[in-house]
Amino acid sequence: MSKFYCQSCGMPISKDPHHGGLEKDGTRSSRYCSFCYNDGEFVQKDITLEQMQGVVLEQLLKSKMPRLLVRIYVRNIKKLSRWKTK
Ligand SMILES: [Zn+2]
Repeated sequence: MSKFYCQSCGMPISKDPHHGGLEKDGTRSSRYCSFCYNDGEFVQKDITLEQMQGVVLEQLLKSKMPRLLVRIYVRNIKKLSRWKTK
């Protein structure tokens, strides 16, 4: 995935109404969206990959994305840099 996707949840940064989370110094993060990241740290610090996949799955099913695409999208979350070390 490119750097233009949030490296925590996979959402395109362009779809983020705030265009990225905030760093501690007030600049916009180019790596994480505003839902995942704020004030230089993750909003949900202790969320596991499985929990994140569950949250994203629910959101995407609500958005009426085709189920096959949802499955691919959710499977790819583990490739994002936030989760790669595990
Ligand atoms: Zn995110």
